[in-house]
Amino acid sequence: MKVYKRKNRLSAQEYIDGVLQGSRVILSRAITIVESNLESDKILAKEIIQAILPHSGNSIRIGITGVPGVGKSTFIEAFGKYLTTLNHKVAILSIDPSSQRSKGSILGDKTRMEELSNNENAYIRPSSTGETLGGVANKTGESMLLCEASGYDVILVETVGVGQSETAVHGMTDFFLLLMLSGAGDELQGIKKGIMEMADMVVINKADGDNIKNSEMARLQYQNALHIFPQPDSGWTPVVTKASSTKNTGIDAVWEQVLKYKELVDQNGYFTKNRNHQKIKWMYNNINEELKHLFYGSPEIKNKLSSLEHDVVSSQVSPVKAAQYIMEDFKKSM
Ligand code: GDP
Repeated sequence: MKVYKRKNRLSAQEYIDGVLQGSRVILSRAITIVESNLESDKILAKEIIQAILPHSGNSIRIGITGVPGVGKSTFIEAFGKYLTTLNHKVAILSIDPSSQRSKGSILGDKTRMEELSNNENAYIRPSSTGETLGGVANKTGESMLLCEASGYDVILVETVGVGQSETAVHGMTDFFLLLMLSGAGDELQGIKKGIMEMADMVVINKADGDNIKNSEMARLQYQNALHIFPQPDSGWTPVVTKASSTKNTGIDAVWEQVLKYKELVDQNGYFTKNRNHQKIKWMYNNINEELKHLFYGSPEIKNKLSSLEHDVVSSQVSPVKAAQYIMEDFKKSM
């Protein structure tokens, strides 16, 4: 197979040096390599990631989710700006496997996080789109490592899509933040129980103007609702607060909770334990994907499967036996 190479590529060492020196331009270009589906870029990406790996990990990774319109980008703008005033370097990445929107229109457009994107201590990278969740999660995970190696010590990973992406974000972050609104039940907000259960913190956003009283009621309701869930493995008791991203209230309290969480999980060892678990899981997810690809991608298997389907439907072979047959054939072909 011929490996096509793009002309405008740097050498691996140039990417590595640029990222480690904190060059935003090179960081962006390195993320482009990580996101690329070109065979030669994949090889280059592996080399870059391997080299920067010892310099990654020195951050707190915060996952942020909530239904569209809850105010995620407004919150991230306020939160990110606040963090930069505390001398943090903040990177914002997103996961959006479902979106058909063109690249750059989600986080990168001018209307979203305008001020933050002009802040030299913040780095905003739009999601790569139109891919499977596994593909996007890999790319966001590797982009996160690159950002850390480049000196970003707070990583915000936003889910833009609804559904499965929350689990992917939860699987790559240390702290999971759920934004909610007052005045709507969680069913109405499309938030499933499983997502509530993952949350380390729920922030009732838009707690301003006429909404302040309702927000306090919602806060109490969610605080009670969270008590039903078993205590998470981290030993942390999830908290519910309220904030206004437009009025800039309650933003500092979110960071305060993140720091409290970090202190707890550093002390009880959960921080490292969880990160180790996430790395192992990331590897297995990739193995699973590769295995599926290897199996279902084989033309021989495809052929056999269609004839087996026929045999199963006509009850000539039981579904269990059919699966056994094809796996035996597959093992022989290896
Ligand atoms: P996203 O889809 O979750 O990213 O939501 P956006 O950040 O785009 O916000 C959706 C709308 O809610 C926008 O019109 C925002 O101006 C508004 N909004 C966001 N946060 C607040 C807030 O704290 N208070 C009020 N009153 N409006 C807000």
